[in-house]
Amino acid sequence: MLVRDMNKNECRDLLERLGFGRLACARQDQPYVVPIYFAYEPDHLFGFSTDGQKIEWMRDNPRVCVEADEIVSEDCWTSVLVLGRYEELPDTPKYGALRLHARSLLEKRSLWWRLAIASSQTRQAVRPLPIFYCIHIEEMTGHRAFPDESPQPR
Ligand SMILES: Cc1cc2nc3c(=O)[nH]c(=O)nc-3n(C[C@H](O)[C@H](O)[C@H](O)COP(=O)(O)OP(=O)(O)OC[C@H]3O[C@@H](n4cnc5c(N)ncnc54)[C@H](O)[C@@H]3O)c2cc1C
Repeated sequence: MLVRDMNKNECRDLLERLGFGRLACARQDQPYVVPIYFAYEPDHLFGFSTDGQKIEWMRDNPRVCVEADEIVSEDCWTSVLVLGRYEELPDTPKYGALRLHARSLLEKRSLWWRLAIASSQTRQAVRPLPIFYCIHIEEMTGHRAFPDESPQPR
């Protein structure tokens, strides 16, 4: 298997196409990872959630990591890592346009709304408030693996 670095454009293409990954945050030295949908735009990921552990933790510590990957087989895969900073987009006039923008991007992702609501309804009876957020991308790297085509030793 050969593994090579992906350039920034390849990383962006993968994030834009997949729109799904794992979000890692940490509080008091304890990492926490959950699957999420996101919408990629240059230098940003937009996400949607309801109140819960990840939101509480990211409010406390906005340093986050997102991993997205596409696995065809053991020796054919791509993986992109983003390091970034969480920013909530509160329901205030200042953030109104950005929230609408985030929402329009996220609505293209099927199930995004239902999933977050459904997971929240397992914990509370009242209708949850939507929380939109942005992850400002500070670093991004990608690796791509290919099958090794060199002759195998007999
Ligand atoms: C394919 C997919 C896409 C998803 N997309 C989104 C999305 O875009 N936005 C979104 O908000 N949520 C999404 N979810 C659900 C998400 O992964 C979390 O389960 C959910 O958001 C609740 O997270 P929370 O931190 O608020 O946990 P809480 O509801 O506060 O959960 C409390 C406890 O439940 C456990 N828990 C929470 N989530 C999971 C999990 N996924 N697996 C196992 N244990 C768990 C943890 O132990 C946690 O301490 C998606 C899930 C899947 C499978």
